[in-house]
Amino acid sequence: MVVELEMNERHKPEIQKTEFVWMNGKTIAWEDGNIPLMTHALHYGTGVFEGIRGYGQGSNMFIFRLEDHFERLINSARVCDIETKYTAKELMEACLSLIRSNDLREDCYIRPIIFVGFSGINLGFINYPTEAAIIVFPFKHYFSKPGLDVCISSWTRLYDPVTPPLAKICGNYVNSVFAKREAAKNGYDEALMLNAQGKISEGTGENIFVVRKGRIATPAMGASILDGITRNTIMELAREMQLEVVERDVGRSELYVADEVFLTGTAAGIAPVLTVDRRQVGDGKVGPITKSLLEGYSQIVQGNMSLGHDDWVTKVY
Ligand code: PMP
Repeated sequence: MVVELEMNERHKPEIQKTEFVWMNGKTIAWEDGNIPLMTHALHYGTGVFEGIRGYGQGSNMFIFRLEDHFERLINSARVCDIETKYTAKELMEACLSLIRSNDLREDCYIRPIIFVGFSGINLGFINYPTEAAIIVFPFKHYFSKPGLDVCISSWTRLYDPVTPPLAKICGNYVNSVFAKREAAKNGYDEALMLNAQGKISEGTGENIFVVRKGRIATPAMGASILDGITRNTIMELAREMQLEVVERDVGRSELYVADEVFLTGTAAGIAPVLTVDRRQVGDGKVGPITKSLLEGYSQIVQGNMSLGHDDWVTKVY
């Protein structure tokens, strides 16, 4: 099968290494950032992480909503009852100093992770060590094309009484991986998952917005979604542009009659959806509302202060 062939051929790591990583308070060589095989998180998914973007601007670098990401990381750890000795502020400082140590000035991705380390196989992990690490690497695009073909996954989104989707828990991503691989093997760029109530929740690594007759809707927090920082940014931007945004249940069939659909995420940015289940969305082109939000978002992440929101951007140098 063609898709499988492509997957097998791609055995080279996609990530371009940088010189240093940060681990448990120290800046160390990338090659030394290793973990024991019996690390609890490797076996049981007992970790929490973040995905943050830095945007190169000349010789400077702007990080988008740094504080919000580290706040969410600490909250995810609280949800999992994973204790860390680091505060959000300390991790933010570590992150900035790591980028400077690597002298990274191009678009990048930042991956902080807090996880249960090596001790034993007790699922309760009481008194087990907690590790913290930050990795940064150059990064441009998550999706390789400007408009996406998505499907509704046959996998249901996990929900709060299982493992809470509002926290960015390592183990939660098995659910996303199942949906993403199924979609890729069927020739789609991304999968959307329905929640336990049969309503739209989110993509495997993005939130979703639907536009119909000039009104924007997005599934609410109770719909088994991550409290996306890009989602929050887009809701604020849309309201500033006098667009109506409501958080409510979104049914699968609404996607088939929508004028515009787009996904939002730190890695994905604002990603227009052109087809859902091979059915064309609207006129099959990137719609005007998606376009204007995408433009506004691009300006803001790249530190265009004239749009306000300079508090969302942290300068590294
Ligand atoms: N949902 C899931 C499951 C995700 O993994 C992500 C990416 N972090 C998002 C939504 C979007 O969140 P954010 O905009 O904060 O990156």
